[in-house]
Amino acid sequence: MAKPRVLITGAAGFLGSHLCDRFIREGFHVVAMDNLITGEMKNIQHLFPLQDFEFHHHDVSKFVHVAGNLEYILHFASPASPIDYLKIPIQTLKVGSLGTHNLLGLARAKGSRILVASTSEVYGDPTVHPQTEEYYGNVNPVGPRGVYDEAKRFQEAITMAYHTYHGVDTRIVRIFNTYGPRMRLNDGRVLPAFIGQALRGEDLTVFGEGKQTRSFCYVDDLIEGIFRLLMSNYAMPVNIGNPDEITILDFAKEIIRLTGTSQKIIFEPLPKDDPMQRQPDITKAKKLLQWEPKVSRRDGLKITYEYFKTLSHEELYQRDHKNFDNYSR
Ligand code: UDP
Repeated sequence: MAKPRVLITGAAGFLGSHLCDRFIREGFHVVAMDNLITGEMKNIQHLFPLQDFEFHHHDVSKFVHVAGNLEYILHFASPASPIDYLKIPIQTLKVGSLGTHNLLGLARAKGSRILVASTSEVYGDPTVHPQTEEYYGNVNPVGPRGVYDEAKRFQEAITMAYHTYHGVDTRIVRIFNTYGPRMRLNDGRVLPAFIGQALRGEDLTVFGEGKQTRSFCYVDDLIEGIFRLLMSNYAMPVNIGNPDEITILDFAKEIIRLTGTSQKIIFEPLPKDDPMQRQPDITKAKKLLQWEPKVSRRDGLKITYEYFKTLSHEELYQRDHKNFDNYSR
């Protein structure tokens, strides 16, 4: 019997590549797509010898053509770190809007179920804590994060419109901070930033006073939640993340303990519109998907640190930006 076919966009990225692995393991034929702006081929190289894996180098902001049937589409293409979307703001807006439109059109033409990757950034700098799916958010449309936040909000709106008006079978996952192997060391996000600094023998740069909070989810937990949501029959947005909240200052201290670095913490200005508090309310995911995260930050960080230690000297020192002046204030 022919295997079910799934299109994964952003396949060479952090989450996309883990999704490729998961769908191959689940017995799918994976059609992987990426324009490699922020993705890296090394994340999916191990899949190239497989018969059930094919790679298309393509920008989904342009018309997307895939031959044959497609049972599922997962739209994970997008720059996803504040530094990336500051460097390439127009592409960020286009992939969330035009790219999503193209993929919804493809889903409609092929009769595919489509899951789009949304984000906790739709809540902006939240005034409600923890964030439930019912909260409408607090986003500055013209701030530095606006290009990502508004593209993702538009993505949710057009996805619901295709669901309502065209009857397309859609799913929306709101992803909170996630970490694990294959994160880009120089993507500017806090975990690779701190671990990279520790490995290079540099001080750890905490922005602001480090009182802002995040809640970090290990990648395997996130992929499990996404897989369950895709297989569910729920079309409204669902938060997937780990509610274990920590301040960035305490997180820096954890990284110092983990890596054994003798470097110290230094404080730098807080980037504009940096959310002060973030924690997912995962009541919905628990109830609908019988899902909750299983990997503790302690265990997840150990695995991630081991991964970063395997990177070459060249990768460790390759930096196209040094925190991009703390997001180009
Ligand atoms: N951050 C920091 N030092 C760094 C990089 C980031 O203190 O070198 C802070 C950043 O200001 C934010 C938090 O860490 O409050 C998480 O930032 P990240 O870029 O990982 O993702 P965000 O959740 O803000 O999208």
